[in-house]
Amino acid sequence: MAVMEVRNPRSGERDYRFEPTSAADIAAKARAARDAQRAWFSGGLERRIAILKKWAESLGRHAAEIAAALSVDTGRTRISHEELGAVEHFIHGYCEAAPQVLAQPFRKFSHNDEIIFKTTLVPYPLVGVISPWNFPLVLSFIDAIPALVAGAAVMIKPSEVTPRFVEPLQRSIDDVPELARIITLVRGGAETGQAVVANSDAIVFTGSIKTGRKIALAAAEAFIPAFLELGGKDPAVVLAGSDLARAATSILRSAIYNTGQVCYAIERVYVDASVHDEFVAELLRQAATLRRSHAAGDGGHYGPFIFEAQGAIVQAQLQDAVARGARILSGGKVENVGGAIWLDPTIVTGVDHGMAVMTEETFGPVVPVMKFDSVEEAAHLVNDTVFGLSGAVFGPDTHTAGDFATLMEAGGVSINDTELQRGMMFDGEKTAFKMSGMGGSRYGATSILRYVRKRALI
Ligand code: NAD
Repeated sequence: MAVMEVRNPRSGERDYRFEPTSAADIAAKARAARDAQRAWFSGGLERRIAILKKWAESLGRHAAEIAAALSVDTGRTRISHEELGAVEHFIHGYCEAAPQVLAQPFRKFSHNDEIIFKTTLVPYPLVGVISPWNFPLVLSFIDAIPALVAGAAVMIKPSEVTPRFVEPLQRSIDDVPELARIITLVRGGAETGQAVVANSDAIVFTGSIKTGRKIALAAAEAFIPAFLELGGKDPAVVLAGSDLARAATSILRSAIYNTGQVCYAIERVYVDASVHDEFVAELLRQAATLRRSHAAGDGGHYGPFIFEAQGAIVQAQLQDAVARGARILSGGKVENVGGAIWLDPTIVTGVDHGMAVMTEETFGPVVPVMKFDSVEEAAHLVNDTVFGLSGAVFGPDTHTAGDFATLMEAGGVSINDTELQRGMMFDGEKTAFKMSGMGGSRYGATSILRYVRKRALI
C-alpha cells in the first residue's frame, strides 16, 4: 500500500512516514491472533492478570519514549503522561475487578434434579479496536484492556493522524513475549480499518458519527457486535443562583482541555438570563488568563490543533455564527504560526440553534453562550440535538442541579462540575444516548462483559 505521510502539528511539516498494514496482512495477523487466543483464554484469568501486570511494568519502563512520541503526534506538552497513567490505571483496575465480574456461580435452573445447567462465559476470539486521534493511546486501550482481561485477543488500529507512538508502544509489548499475537497493533486509514472490521469477531469503534455509521453497517453485514463511542455536543446549563466563578472555571477548563478536541468537552452553554451578563464577564476575565503552551513546563494551558482540517472546520462554524448575528468576545481567529494552527479560547454570545456552532460538533476551544428565560426552555434547548454523550448542570445547590440533570437526554451529567467523565474513567458506568453511541457502558468493571458470550453447559 502507498506510504502515508504524517503532519507534525507543531511545525506543519510532513516529517513522518509509514506503510499502512495491508488487508492481506491483517487477515494473516487475525488468523495468528485467533490461534494464540485459545491458549490465552484456556490458560485462565490468573495467568492473564499476571501477564497484563507484567505489561504494565513494561509500559512504565517505556513511558518516556511513548510519551515523547505521543507529544510529537499531538503537539501537546503534558497530556501524554496523563494518557499513560490512565492506561496503567485501566490495567490494574480491570485486573482487580475481573475475578468478581467473570465469576459465574454454578447454576441449577431445572426443576428436574437430573438436569443441571452451568453457564460459562466465552470471549469473542478477536476484538477489533479502531480509535481516533484526540487521545491516541487511551482510546486504543480503554476498551482493549477489558477485552483482554475477558480472554479475547485484540487487534488495534489507532488513527493514521497520530501513528508515531505505535513503534515505542510495540516495544513495550515485545518485552512481554506472552502477549505476542494477543495484542496486535496495525496502522493505516479507512482501508486498513475496514479490513480490521472484516477480520474481527466484535468491533469497538471510537470516532465520528459518520464513520461509526459505516462501521455499524459493515458489522451488521457480518453479524458481529459493534460497540460505538461517537461524537458529542455537550451542554452546560447555568441556573440562577449558581456560583458563577466556579461555573466559569469549570466550563472553561472543559472547553480548552486538549484544545477542545474532546468528545465530552463542553461545547454549548445555556445561562439563565438574569445572570447571563455577569457570567459572560466572569468567563472573559478568566479566559484572559489562559496562555498558549509552547513547551513542556512553560505554564501554558493549550496547544495548537492536532488535526490540520480542524482549524478550518472551527473557523467555518465561527464565520457562520457571526454571519447569523453572533458576537465573538474573545479569541475567534484561527491562525497559522510557523505551521502550527492556533485558536485562543473563544467566547461567543448571541448564538441560537440556527447556527452550526450550537448544533454540530466543534472540537475546538469555543464557548458559545445562549440565554434562557425558563427552566422549561433550558430543558428543551439542551435536548434539541442528535447527540447525547454527557453534559453539566450548575445550580444553587446539588439538589436543584440534580433535578435539572434528570431532564437531560445524556448518558452522564456532572453536577456543579464538568469533570464527571475524567473522574469516572474506571469506576462508574454510563451509556452514550442518542447518536453519541451504542452498545452499553464502556466504563466500569462490567464493560468486561461486553466481550463475552454466555454458553450453557447442560
Ligand atoms: P474518524 O471517525 O474520522 O476516524 C476514527 C478512526 O476510524 C480512525 O482510526 C480512522 O482511520 C478510522 N476509519 C475511518 N474510516 C473508516 C472506515 N470506513 N472503516 C473503518 N475505520 C475507519 O474520527 P476522528 O476524526 O479520528 O476523531 C474525532 C471524532 O471522534 C469526534 O467525532 C469525536 O467526538 C469522536 N470521539 C468520541 C469519543 C467517545 O468516547 N465517544 C472519544 C473521542 C473522540
